[in-house]
Amino acid sequence: MSDTLDKNEILGWLRETNPERLAGLWRRADETRRRHVGDAVHLRGLVEISNYCTRQCAYCGLRAGNLQIPRYRMLADEILEAARQAVKFGYGTIVLQSGEDYGLTTRWLAELIRQIKRETPLAVTLSLGERSNRELAVWREAGADRYLLRFETSDRHLFHEIHPPKGTRPCDRLGILRRLKALGYEVGSGIMVGLPGQTFASVANDIEVFRELDLDTIGIGPFIPHPGTPLGLGFNIFPPVNGEQVPNHELMVYKVIALTRLVRPDANIPATTALATINKKHGRELGWQRGANLFMPNLTPLKYRRLYEIYPAKACIAETDVTCHGCLHARIQTIGRHVGQGPGGRRNRDLPGAEGVSGGRNLPQLPARFSMSRVLASSESPPVANLRFGSEPVV
Ligand code: SAM
Ligand code: SF4
Repeated sequence: MSDTLDKNEILGWLRETNPERLAGLWRRADETRRRHVGDAVHLRGLVEISNYCTRQCAYCGLRAGNLQIPRYRMLADEILEAARQAVKFGYGTIVLQSGEDYGLTTRWLAELIRQIKRETPLAVTLSLGERSNRELAVWREAGADRYLLRFETSDRHLFHEIHPPKGTRPCDRLGILRRLKALGYEVGSGIMVGLPGQTFASVANDIEVFRELDLDTIGIGPFIPHPGTPLGLGFNIFPPVNGEQVPNHELMVYKVIALTRLVRPDANIPATTALATINKKHGRELGWQRGANLFMPNLTPLKYRRLYEIYPAKACIAETDVTCHGCLHARIQTIGRHVGQGPGGRRNRDLPGAEGVSGGRNLPQLPARFSMSRVLASSESPPVANLRFGSEPVV
């Protein structure tokens, strides 16, 4: 098997059921991980800063149409306190995540980012949905380092159905990823595995898209049905025929993680919370042993955490951040790995060891010719490598 897997080989692995052959895939992914990003498992502290959302994603419990959850928006002081906690725990990054909440205003968030950067050595990752080019530029200038926005599935018909556009224009998450890159962010994306209507061919295509995009982080988690959502209630507009539906079980997720490691050897790949949710006992460890090198421990205050219910029975919903921290260290050591130091960004990673040891200075700088006025004036995407979409039949 070569690292230059073609799409047919990827498809073959996605359908593979032979345990011995799969053990070979896990070994290959693990070796590739060790060679390219080392034995460190990087921890990025996650703070779920608001569960308000204006979108109607058919998969997510935070969708605006779900009237069953009380909504919250964290105060700046609470977020700063979580950032200080991240520093105490030795994390190199804080990830600020929320629904697509326009109550988080451009200026308020820019000031918050500045304050985190003034007070702490943390890298700041944002994951706030499809915000405008102007907002993304302002937050980048305020000091935000990375942005996470999953494209969820490269099957654009399926995506359109499960992530309805807000206006008349279809959503263009790949276009936003390109703009983020042009602004100098390190960019993360990813998919859910086992969405109703998702075929093996379309997941093979997702992995091809990973190959082509220059991503810092690639998040791959199982789709977990939420009963307060259309997909959780059984809505499936494109039921695949003849066994083509991709299952949302953990084995499938490990295969996608392992194959993604082979096609993107130097990416940061988390063992996601969703994976930890469907196998609370060993999901994280198996993820790290099959290609992953990252985790995002939850630093959201407990009183808010249970309200950020993307899907039910989320892992670590009741543990304090101190308990989570101890638990993760033990899990990482048990599999013979160690916790990464520093922000753990992908660029200028200091190999061997791949620790991101440059103490916060291994993150991208603003592009030399960065000009706020140019960015604001232009909504054009920069040119990008040939991206493929859709679930074309594979020969
Ligand atoms: N609102 C932002 C966005 O959509 O990018 C960030 C928060 S959103 C909750 C983060 C991720 O949660 C989504 O990109 C999606 O992949 C994942 N997610 C949402 N609903 C899920 C579900 N039912 N099962 C598994 N993952 C889910
Ligand atoms: Fe909102 Fe993100 Fe959930 Fe969609 S996935 S409903 S944008 S929080």
